Amino acid sequence: MIHLTEEQQMIRETVRKLAEEKLAPIAVRIDKTGKFSREVVDLFEEYDLLKLKLPKKYGGLDTDHTTYYLVIEEIARVCASSSMLIATQGSCLTSIRLGANKEQEERFFGRLGKGNVILSWAMTEPNAGSDVGAMRARAVLDGDYYIVNGSKCFITAGGIADMYTVFFRTSGEKGTDGLSGFVVDKDTPGFSVGKIEDKMGMRGSQTSELFFEDARVPKENMLGKEGKGWDLLIESVKETRLGIACQALGIAEGALEFATNYSKERVQFGKPISKNQGIQFMLADMKIQVEASRALIFQTAAMLDRGIRDVLPYAAMAKCMASDTAMKVTTDAVQILGGYGYMKDYPVERMMRDAKSTQITEGTNQIQRMIIAGSMLK
Ligand SMILES: Cc1cc2nc3c(=O)[nH]c(=O)nc-3n(C[C@H](O)[C@H](O)[C@H](O)COP(=O)(O)OP(=O)(O)OC[C@H]3O[C@@H](n4cnc5c(N)ncnc54)[C@H](O)[C@@H]3O)c2cc1C
Repeated sequence: MIHLTEEQQMIRETVRKLAEEKLAPIAVRIDKTGKFSREVVDLFEEYDLLKLKLPKKYGGLDTDHTTYYLVIEEIARVCASSSMLIATQGSCLTSIRLGANKEQEERFFGRLGKGNVILSWAMTEPNAGSDVGAMRARAVLDGDYYIVNGSKCFITAGGIADMYTVFFRTSGEKGTDGLSGFVVDKDTPGFSVGKIEDKMGMRGSQTSELFFEDARVPKENMLGKEGKGWDLLIESVKETRLGIACQALGIAEGALEFATNYSKERVQFGKPISKNQGIQFMLADMKIQVEASRALIFQTAAMLDRGIRDVLPYAAMAKCMASDTAMKVTTDAVQILGGYGYMKDYPVERMMRDAKSTQITEGTNQIQRMIIAGSMLK
């Protein structure tokens, strides 16, 4: 439905093949065990998918925004958990690209270029989820280091990442002023990984707590200016929220395809259930929502590709629309499969559990609606 260049189509087809042939069996297993698998990292390394946003100079693919989102969509269509890894890698790289100075680019991107480096992005705290200004984890300058105390929770790739982009409070007590972004190495003294979460969905993506106890973060690891972390965060989410939207789009697409094919094969009352108008209308409504989400996502991606940065409400609309669609479409897919849809033998129940996370991560859909309404009413 959207116009793609030859190169974008080629990358999309390559990733689709990889997902269908190699990821599909892993998707079932990691969902069942609830454990992240290193195999996924190795596969992504082989195809350079962890370097999509890395500048070419450092051995990355430096893809345009559209291509990056297409990759997330294709992976999520088959294994949403694994798409979390690419989306998080991209989120972290986005913040570094937006905030790093030349010396930091050489240091961080140089390391990433060598390969096998997993990234993670940490903002949420037990008392600061939607309310980012309630953040408490604090970084205090002491000579050449910031001494950090506090914790983060629900962090994707926590415990498996090599480098983390983390936001801490560097001044004030509350509010979004006085936050700063940092790159934290996994071997930082005083840094540790806490509980690994047992989740409803996205079970093959590791999510954990992070602890900082007098952790010593070199001051040259601060991204951008001290106290300007909120600006970095907002610039970052303009891009990263579309990543979650694409995850949702991929999940919805996977569920719709499965339900469509199933409806053509399942015979009740002597004919395939797809011959019933009741089922046809459900499928048509699912398709309308999927294509409308796709249009909104890739229209916003095209704006980013043209260098337009004033996209915050559009990224919020795309994220809301696609994740609400993913929830609705996967629920309807389970309905179309009937009792079989409710069983773990078929992928649609996993997709329904995975879809739920897309309405919560990178800012809940209530927060997105606040952003959209705010932009309309200002
Ligand atoms: C699978 C998963 C992976 C995640 N990965 C990461 C990660 O890698 N890094 C990271 O930093 N975080 C991550 N998160 C955390 C996620 O971003 C937060 O869970 C999310 O921002 C919501 O915060 P909260 O859970 O504290 O909910 P709360 O902020 O407590 O919200 C609870 C409910 O209240 C609603 N609400 C809150 N304020 C308002 C308001 N003003 N008006 C109307 N409704 C409101 C919310 O929409 C929600 O429905 C992850 C979460 C999940 C589930």
